Amino acid sequence: MREYQPRTIQELAACTCDRCQRRLTPDGPGEWQERLSFNHVGGFDSVFGDGNTVSLDLCQHCVREVLGQWLRITPPADTDVFGLWRDRKIDSAWDAPP
Ligand SMILES: [Zn+2]
Repeated sequence: MREYQPRTIQELAACTCDRCQRRLTPDGPGEWQERLSFNHVGGFDSVFGDGNTVSLDLCQHCVREVLGQWLRITPPADTDVFGLWRDRKIDSAWDAPP
C-alpha cells in the first residue's frame, strides 16, 4: 500500500526580457515559446569566473536584434511537404513566409 502527501512545486509563470523588459507569460500570444533562456555554470578558466552561473532571458525580438548576425537558422526539414518554402531561397528564418 502506498501513501502520498501533497507536494508544492515551483512552475515558471512569467519571464521578463533582460534587455527590453517585455514581460512574457505562458498564456501570451506566442512570445513565450520563442524566448531564449539559459543558465550556464562556468567551468575552469571561464571568462565569467570559475563556477559562476551566467543567466539570460531574452524575448525573440531581442534575440534577433542582439544575436541575429551569428544565429544559424535552418528551416524545418519537412517544410517542402507543404510547399511553403519550395523554390525560394531563404537566407534566414526571419525572411521566411509567416
Ligand atoms: Zn526583449
